[in-house]
Amino acid sequence: MPDYPRADERASMVARQIVARGITNPKILSAMQQIPRHIFVPPPYDRSAYDDNPLPIGSGQTISQPYIVALMTELLDPQPGDRILEIGAGSGYQAAILASLVNRVITIERLSAVAERARTTLLSLGIRNVDLVIGDGTLGYPGRAPYDGIIITAAAPHLPAPLIEQLAQGGRLVVPVGGRDFQELVVFQKNHGQLSETRYGGVRFVPLIGKYGWENEDL
Ligand code: SAH
Repeated sequence: MPDYPRADERASMVARQIVARGITNPKILSAMQQIPRHIFVPPPYDRSAYDDNPLPIGSGQTISQPYIVALMTELLDPQPGDRILEIGAGSGYQAAILASLVNRVITIERLSAVAERARTTLLSLGIRNVDLVIGDGTLGYPGRAPYDGIIITAAAPHLPAPLIEQLAQGGRLVVPVGGRDFQELVVFQKNHGQLSETRYGGVRFVPLIGKYGWENEDL
């Protein structure tokens, strides 16, 4: 990946927001240093792309705070050969970070306008190992299962059943679970067909809307 503008802002983001909060995986730190987050944030918020908070990306959706992207990536513990499923492509930023760490990322987005923008952004950066699918991610994407890891970047009322099925043995699934306004980050691990569960504290995400998520309040 070439050197993109605003490298100093990214270095400061990595040092003050990510390393300072205890993320140590050098591959994740390097991905966050290299990938130009500001390209994923539409104007006028692109100016604030390296701030320590989530930002609007249109259609009422948000790109997560940089630290949350780093934390969820670390909890997923992606390995180079992995095939990862993401639910909630949003801006495509989390998918881009993962794509620099693993073999292939399949990311699902329910809003076509949001998905099209993410697709254009990823292609403009020459990222070719992300497949963006438009649809209800609570159903997963059985055609490419099983996945070595699954990351849900929207707030789920509970773990969507189809995703348990599509997780590989030994695989991890990272998801914010809880109410519509406040959730807890949970890591599920599948071993010998059994799911174990570890909790990592409070987060706030936009709702996961779909058959195994929340109902659409806009209807
Ligand atoms: N990972 C994103 C941020 C996600 S915001 C990034 O890096 O920018 C959450 C996204 O999940 C929103 O774009 C929302 O439209 C989408 N979403 C909500 N429910 C969904 C579902 N059932 N399937 C796929 N996408 C969904």
